[in-house]
Amino acid sequence: MVNTCAVRGCKQESYPGCGISFHRIPVNKEWRALWVDAMNLDTNVTKTACVCSLHFTDDAYLTVAKNKLKPQAVPSVLPKVVFCVNIHIL
Ligand SMILES: [Zn+2]
Repeated sequence: MVNTCAVRGCKQESYPGCGISFHRIPVNKEWRALWVDAMNLDTNVTKTACVCSLHFTDDAYLTVAKNKLKPQAVPSVLPKVVFCVNIHIL
C-alpha cells in the first residue's frame, strides 16, 4: 500500500528508499486537533491519514533515522506554497 501525505500541497508518497517516513495522525482528540490545526488539514481527515516526515523538524524525532517521533511532536513545517503573483517591473 502506498501512503500519501494528508497535508495540502504536499504530494509526497512513500516508496522504498525514498527516505521519507509517514506518521499516523494521532487518534487522541485534542492531539489530533493540534495536528489538524498546525497543518491546516481537513477536520474530517481519515483516521488512517498520515503526515510525512517533511513536516517535522529534526528535533521532533527521537532517532537520527527519523522513524520515531517524540510523543509530544506536532508537525510544524508547511509545504512551500507557490503563489501566482503578477509582478510588474517598471
Ligand atoms: Zn507531506
